[in-house]
Amino acid sequence: MTVPDLRFTLVAAFALCASLANAAPPGATPLSPPGPVKSIAPHVPANWKAGAASVVVTPEKNLFMAGYASRKTPSVGKVQDLFVKALALEDEQGGRLVIVTMDLIGVPQTIRHFVAERVEKDFKLPPAALLMNASHTHSGPSMRSTAPTEEELKRPLTKDAYEYTLALQEKIVGVIGKALGELKPARLTWNKARCGFAMNRRRDYTLAPDDPNANKAPNPNGPVDQEVPALRVESPEGEVRAILFGYACHNTCLGFFNYCGDYAGYAQEYLQQYRPGCVAMFLMGCGADQNPYPRRSDVVPGITDLELAQQHGRSLSNAAEMAISANPRGISGPIRAAYEEIKLSYANNKRPDHDYPVQVIKLGDDLTIIALGSEVVVDYSLRFKREFAGKAALWVAGYSNDYTGYVPSLRVLKEGGYEAAAGWADDVEDRIAKKVHELHARVSAEGKGRE
Ligand SMILES: [Zn+2]
Repeated sequence: MTVPDLRFTLVAAFALCASLANAAPPGATPLSPPGPVKSIAPHVPANWKAGAASVVVTPEKNLFMAGYASRKTPSVGKVQDLFVKALALEDEQGGRLVIVTMDLIGVPQTIRHFVAERVEKDFKLPPAALLMNASHTHSGPSMRSTAPTEEELKRPLTKDAYEYTLALQEKIVGVIGKALGELKPARLTWNKARCGFAMNRRRDYTLAPDDPNANKAPNPNGPVDQEVPALRVESPEGEVRAILFGYACHNTCLGFFNYCGDYAGYAQEYLQQYRPGCVAMFLMGCGADQNPYPRRSDVVPGITDLELAQQHGRSLSNAAEMAISANPRGISGPIRAAYEEIKLSYANNKRPDHDYPVQVIKLGDDLTIIALGSEVVVDYSLRFKREFAGKAALWVAGYSNDYTGYVPSLRVLKEGGYEAAAGWADDVEDRIAKKVHELHARVSAEGKGRE
């Protein structure tokens, strides 16, 4: 065999091996070729304008990480980028709404206020029409949104965290501007599906203290909200330009020292994977007392925490795919939005009250979004879905516009435990619920006035 012949044979053999390695196993369904772009609901008028944009916010430096007090050393790198994403909507009357989602631990109130002020000044966006939500990934950086004192600056990485946060604020304003700058005709549809990996992570307080399971968590009988609501934003021709989807569960599959969006980061990545230009956004629900299970590799032999995060991400992206495909319900305008900060008191009345944000947004009579600040337990979501059951679909987000730790329901407050430890007064749920009802009544009445 001559040298060129030998080379040909080797190349052919390599190609055969490569094709065998890529071949589907016997009986497998072949990959379907991408079909032509087609609307999922051509009967729904494309009477919105929508724009979506995203920006990478992974720190360039290895900062301290947010979420677990036990991590005393900074990050060592990244396995996935962190993003801030913005979806801008404009109704037929020119009313606008911007939803911002962030792969970060929370939305510090100082950042909310900074961004709301800037986008009102720069883009004339009313603060009530800005919703900022964080996925609560425990694999993002610690932020520092107030200027450190001389003393604090002596601590390692404090200056870096502050500089990161200042730059982050500018990036958020920038990505909102970009989304607003890309407003184009769009059709909006909504539906929901279900996912299953969230489980109530508190112990079962209904058991007698001497029951052998009384101090064990998670609790498969505990309250949970498995709904995966999703908004599909498509071009008039049917190309999916943005997907906003939600779930109520902590992003705590991971506890390592790498930046990563956890299951929500992977769900977003998978939804975008075969949709060039599409922006998939995760809106965190009322998941304060919910964890992903199985959670750690020590309960599942032969699997890493990262693989579990990816599996839960796949499970959630599959649910979101169903939510944007099955029986699409058209969403009409107009946008009506209300935002107020109420006083929440602590049981210890020497502590100053906290200004707590409550936001209610209605898209016509089709979809109502309630966005609550900080880490609210699932009882809030279940309660409002019950109380506002009607024609409009209801979507309840937590972790929005503020980040001040856990906000229990009265039930959780009375039971005690980790989510009750912040020391709120007994009327915490009552004050929040009253404001939600008041704002809901206000935006509903505004709609009637205009019609
Ligand atoms: Zn948390």
